[in-house]
Amino acid sequence: MNTEPPSRIYYTKPSITALEIGYANDAASNGWGEHCYDYIHRFEAMFREHLGVKHAIATSSATGALHIGMAAMGIGAGDEVVLGDINWVASAAPIIHLGATPVLVDVLADSWCLDPVAVEAAITPKTRAILAVHLYGNLCDMDVLREIGERHGIPVIEDAAEAIGSVWHGCRAGSMGIFGAFSFHGTKTITTGEGGIFVTNDDALYEKALTLSNHGRAREETRQFWPATIGFKYKMSNLQAAIGCGQMERIEELIAGKRRVFEYYCNALRMLPLRMNPEPAGTINGYWMPTIVVDDHALFDRDALLDAFKANHIDGRVFFWPLSSLPSFKPRPENIVSHSLSSRAMNLPSYHDMTDEGQNRVITCVNKLLALES
Ligand SMILES: *Cc1c(COP(=O)(O)O)cnc(C)c1O
Repeated sequence: MNTEPPSRIYYTKPSITALEIGYANDAASNGWGEHCYDYIHRFEAMFREHLGVKHAIATSSATGALHIGMAAMGIGAGDEVVLGDINWVASAAPIIHLGATPVLVDVLADSWCLDPVAVEAAITPKTRAILAVHLYGNLCDMDVLREIGERHGIPVIEDAAEAIGSVWHGCRAGSMGIFGAFSFHGTKTITTGEGGIFVTNDDALYEKALTLSNHGRAREETRQFWPATIGFKYKMSNLQAAIGCGQMERIEELIAGKRRVFEYYCNALRMLPLRMNPEPAGTINGYWMPTIVVDDHALFDRDALLDAFKANHIDGRVFFWPLSSLPSFKPRPENIVSHSLSSRAMNLPSYHDMTDEGQNRVITCVNKLLALES
């Protein structure tokens, strides 16, 4: 009889192979002096190519990439940036750091991303940007958002931290806005431990962001230690970039792993009263986080599911809270979809090489709870 407790199922973990370890070793051994940027430049080039964009600046985080990008746009005190109420706080924090105001609007019930009607209603003379966050790999309606932006003279920024592998009508998430930001935190589809990247097709914005990312030193400046302006220090290290180069060589495999895990869940849970991440016609979802949203009419106790996961050594992760329910934000009870999603939704564990057996343990918990309650 096997008395071992079942192994723990993490909600996500990176896929690191001999390739990444080899590059990290090389960077640690040789990546100094004249080679101290080699992996950074290679990583940026690989990411540009993957995404189909002109410019990329590797950063220490997505938060830093958003901060630099919005600063380069000149967003500051008195300005407003419109974003969805259901979000991770990292999307809103840079807006606040710049002295601007995040304007939290409701999301759509099917995509959990910005409701374009709510976006347009929230636009004021102070609005400087629309921040489109592609939540859990789901895509914002970029055509409608860009059309609204164009009509009002307001650019759309993409927070694509969760949308590696997601494609909107032939364009990769993060490549369509005035700039895009990605995260390579250990929980994301590709990782460098901590890390991020700023991407854009806008030459002038790139130059500004590059200067800001290098402590305000313009690249044509010939004097040493001569910042023309006060910038930021959000750089990625060559060591991190070395791991990133390994991940970029495997990016299609890593995305395919996420999609495989999602499809297995989706197929197994399809008879239950719930919906999962959508993939509308003409789009591809990178499925960073397979998420269940239980139907309104079905009884569902999210805490009971969390407890069931815990008892089975499975990490459960709750859906993001509405930012407007956090102490640092103004309450927005009128964002009804955001508030109702949060209590009916849960992320399922989804690392790239998860086994069927692991997924079956998760599925059994969900099945038992929903079959009991509905
Ligand atoms: C993870 C994440 C971030 C923050 O990324 P960091 O690299 O941790 O700064 C920002 N936005 C979204 C949507 C995220 O999921």
